[in-house]
Amino acid sequence: MSHIFPRHTKSQPPTAVRGDGVYLIDSEGKNYLDASGGAAVSCLGHSDQDVIEAIKKQAETLAFAHTGFFTSEPAERLANRLISNAPEGIERVYLVSGGSEAVESALKLARQFMLETDQPKRNKFIARRQSYHGNTLGALATGGNMWRREPFAPVMVEGHHISPCYEYRNRAEGESLEDYGLRAANELETKLLEVGPETVIAFIAEPVVGATAGAVPAAPGYFKRIREICDQYGILLILDEVMCGMGRTGSLFACEQDGIAPDIVCIAKGLGAGYQPIGAMLCSGRIYEAIEQGSGFFQHGHTYLGHPIAAAAADVVVQKLTEGGLVKRSAEMGEKLDQALHAEFGQHPHIGDIRGRGMFRGLELVKDRASKTPFDPAMGIAGKLKKVAQANGLICYPGSGTIDGKQGDHVLLAPPFIISDSQIDELVGKLSLSLKDVLG
Ligand code: PMP
Repeated sequence: MSHIFPRHTKSQPPTAVRGDGVYLIDSEGKNYLDASGGAAVSCLGHSDQDVIEAIKKQAETLAFAHTGFFTSEPAERLANRLISNAPEGIERVYLVSGGSEAVESALKLARQFMLETDQPKRNKFIARRQSYHGNTLGALATGGNMWRREPFAPVMVEGHHISPCYEYRNRAEGESLEDYGLRAANELETKLLEVGPETVIAFIAEPVVGATAGAVPAAPGYFKRIREICDQYGILLILDEVMCGMGRTGSLFACEQDGIAPDIVCIAKGLGAGYQPIGAMLCSGRIYEAIEQGSGFFQHGHTYLGHPIAAAAADVVVQKLTEGGLVKRSAEMGEKLDQALHAEFGQHPHIGDIRGRGMFRGLELVKDRASKTPFDPAMGIAGKLKKVAQANGLICYPGSGTIDGKQGDHVLLAPPFIISDSQIDELVGKLSLSLKDVLG
């Protein structure tokens, strides 16, 4: 009998025993093509020798040194590498163990910034309904995934939400993409005026929405307008790039493609590429200086901040992404994946939208393509597809959600950037077969 507390108590998953490139292998010897890297984690595949060597070397040299007493060489190296590739104005790195910790750190740093700059009345966060920022209580409060929030809402701080930028369903007939982007962004100003702009700390959003919607990028100009509104009302812009950052969308930071820089950006997943649990919160020089010139202490912290082995692994990951050309490969192979998806599913009666950037792609599943009617949630399409695809040797990331009563099911694809042309064909073939098995 297993003593593990599993995600689902009514079923026992296979035991993964080995990773090999884009494949995972279980204890029965079955191969799975990892088309989602778990959830956009494994950007380098499962057997990268450079990262494995870096981990071994660091473990032999220094495994742990508490940041209350020390900094470490790998943490300093990683921070330098991240900052030399970061959006304009971003100057400091706070290394944590994962995505939720990065978001919690961002929310608390943003609040402390307001205290240090004599704005104690600011105590609210605004986010979007179509978003996920993590499962810890603070991050969950800002997230807009109702299914995840609902059971815990009575014990959460209040979060304020606006509509997502979701052109497939929310762009009006005849409205240009740019006009739609502007309209969606202006909802932030409306919400600010409603709750009192002087009481708001920050707006938080994923540049390309992952888990709750399936790789939804913002319309052109959306984030430029968001940036303007934040500046006008003195609120901070926090970008959650936990899933879409680290080359996933074809640029190291997803926001590069939107032409803006945030005040704080959170990364995780691809940063450790699955080899180590690591995340980071990066902030602007302006925020850091407010702390430095004020109390001099960020009132936060975790035992495993700046873990040397995790930092050593992530440093090699980021080096391979940038100097090693893997971000470029994500952009190039992402185009090929997009073409293959359009060729196979472009006319599919139950696929309403194919979207995304780089190696971050999503398909929206619909009952009827013309009317965009979603499947009845009771059918549990996403859950069925996950099971059937796994049985067919494909790990993909289906999900479902409701946004203003509209969205249904989607599949998120986030394969390793090292995927080959023939493996893209295999991915699309297995997905097609699995969709047939589920939808007929
Ligand atoms: N933010 C986003 C955008 C995410 O996709 C996730 C994880 N799916 C998180 C935060 C939370 O990260 P973690 O699961 O590492 O805590």
